[in-house]
Amino acid sequence: MISPSSISDKLQEAYDPELFRRLGHQLVDQLANHLQAVQSDPERPVYYHADPEEETDYWRNTLQEKGIDKLPDWYNRVIEHSIHLHHHRYAGHQISSPAPLAALSGLLTDVLNNGMGVYEMGVAATAMERIVVETAAQQFGMPNTAGGYLTSGGTLANLTALLAARRHRAPQDVWTEGSSEKLAVLVCEEAHYCIDRAVRIMGLGEKGIRKIPAASDFKMRTELLEEHWALARAEGFYPIAVVGSACSTSTGAYDDLEAIADFCEAKSLWFHVDGAHGAAAAFSEKYRHLVKGIDRADSVTMDFHKMLMTPALATGLIFRELDDSFATFSQRAQYLWAGATDQEWFNLARRTFECTKSMMSVKIFTLLQAYGTEVFDDYVTRCYDLGQMMAGLVNRRPAFELATQPDGNIVCFRLLKGELDREGLNQMNAQIRKTIIESGAFYLVQTELHGQLYLRVTLVNPFTSEKEMEELLDLVQSHA
Ligand SMILES: *Cc1c(COP(=O)(O)O)cnc(C)c1O
Repeated sequence: MISPSSISDKLQEAYDPELFRRLGHQLVDQLANHLQAVQSDPERPVYYHADPEEETDYWRNTLQEKGIDKLPDWYNRVIEHSIHLHHHRYAGHQISSPAPLAALSGLLTDVLNNGMGVYEMGVAATAMERIVVETAAQQFGMPNTAGGYLTSGGTLANLTALLAARRHRAPQDVWTEGSSEKLAVLVCEEAHYCIDRAVRIMGLGEKGIRKIPAASDFKMRTELLEEHWALARAEGFYPIAVVGSACSTSTGAYDDLEAIADFCEAKSLWFHVDGAHGAAAAFSEKYRHLVKGIDRADSVTMDFHKMLMTPALATGLIFRELDDSFATFSQRAQYLWAGATDQEWFNLARRTFECTKSMMSVKIFTLLQAYGTEVFDDYVTRCYDLGQMMAGLVNRRPAFELATQPDGNIVCFRLLKGELDREGLNQMNAQIRKTIIESGAFYLVQTELHGQLYLRVTLVNPFTSEKEMEELLDLVQSHA
């Protein structure tokens, strides 16, 4: 007979509901205090600057003294050593200031920890996932045969979409037989690097990604699609898809989705929209025009953790025809004879890359439950309005230059100085950014466009206002 070891005191404590209650209440108070502070005290640093080696030593040191009683102080130190997305002077990358309401549901889902791969392991969250995806599809204007699922990030969603494209448009069954044909994907040179990466992961190689040049406004020159398609064919490639950016990452430029849809229809190509950042414009009455044509896409990637107020990661991959989403990881014979109704839509791992997946739908559903889609309209419209306002403020100052008039909330600009050449300007702008972020006064990023370095803001905090934007421009100018 084997006698099981007893449950240790540590195990008892780690699972103790009363301890959870006490620490949980305390942590919610700590976070609420933090949110209040960063929203009201501009002197608080946005960004915590530290050398990576020193930071690692710091946390190694904290491990010297262990104990439950250390946790409240430790929570505060984690907060302090982080970048603060709720700060009104946060205007950095595209990941949003999440609604605290949605983050609370993150606690809910972390405790419940339903695995989602099979229906039994996520009954409520699976049903909510379907509703969330169908809400997005409706917003895009897709037919009611549309559907899809949530997945872990835009990068993975784009790869999955291109795998679906290959399944549906390649001349052979690559999933079963491997590849003999040289396949290709057409995309604007301004697209997110993850498209390039996905194409290479799929084994299409450097020449399998056919880059369409961008115009001076950083949008795909769709009139060149035909020429690049023909060139690919002449070189022995078999194009399967065109990816439109809605919007591109560096400058926030929206490709002409209608023109790409027309081209894909004419050539029987898969039309994927990488709307990781900007497909959310479909929720905004005012900015919906930017995604005109999105209803004609075969698949759309949309990050809820960017422009839809949800904590990361939470990404939708929405197919115009739900049926198309079942083929990606299945044998051809398995899906050809069966309609979607026989496909057990509710066993999600059949269609997603993930096996275990977090209950991301619950966080999104929280916002729908509390407010409906109107809150997404409010958020996107506010942030995109801020982008337009920022561009106006930059334009009013002769010392600055915009890279291009922004479509939404991503704005690229730089400070000019008469006597400096290109390299000098690049160095000056990079140095100014470094000084500003290390001081903790603002957080913004930079991007290189045609060899020129631009400062880049993404206005994702709806509480940022004209005041902060003017302060940022003043600060940049003061470092000239
Ligand atoms: C952010 C972004 C991605 C990558 O999405 P993740 O969720 O960060 O993996 C892909 N494409 C575009 C256009 C993006 O803006």
